[in-house]
Amino acid sequence: MSGVIVVLGRQGSGKGTQCGLLEQHFDGVVHVSTGDMLRDAATSGTPLGRRAEAIMTAGELVPDDVMCDVVAERLVPLLESGATVLLDGFPRTPAQAEALAGMTVPDGIAGAVLLEVDVAEVSERMLARGRDDDTVAGIARRLELYEAQTAPLVEWFAGRGLLQRIEGTGAPEEVFDRLAAAIGGLVPLRLSR
Ligand code: AMP
Repeated sequence: MSGVIVVLGRQGSGKGTQCGLLEQHFDGVVHVSTGDMLRDAATSGTPLGRRAEAIMTAGELVPDDVMCDVVAERLVPLLESGATVLLDGFPRTPAQAEALAGMTVPDGIAGAVLLEVDVAEVSERMLARGRDDDTVAGIARRLELYEAQTAPLVEWFAGRGLLQRIEGTGAPEEVFDRLAAAIGGLVPLRLSR
């Protein structure tokens, strides 16, 4: 059975790490990270990558129409193949959420999980991680955009009865167990061998 589960949370809340673990542990679960897709495109020097690189370094958002095309191209075949997709980094704006709803017709979005970690802790985690765009200014700008553009999406999902809030602090194994329980309530999960 296929389905899309949106993984929401501030940058640095552990979405990427946890989605990677879930993908490893469960059959048919695929982690799709738009940030990873854009970073790969930038490394390969594709037209998309060249366009996205400066935007990413500044901590700004790639335009909605570009992102929606990139995601649809990846998502639609995965859903047709019966995968459960953990979508990390998309949607980031209300327009992207509407577009995602369109991409998942007729099944709809299976659910959304919000990994809750406060601003002080995610800032500390990002500085420790030290990615190219993890400068003090870049982190501040991304968190500002998250509050302005992405936080309203929490209401978008909650209003549709799709949102589950997950405590994102504590040992990574504990966070994993909470997420697996939440996701297992949305789609059948089978352990990988
Ligand atoms: P992330 O790894 O999710 O924090 O994404 C890194 C950067 O990629 C962001 O700061 C944005 O510049 C860009 N990006 C990733 N996903 C999106 C999206 N859905 N919409 C716009 N820009 C995005």
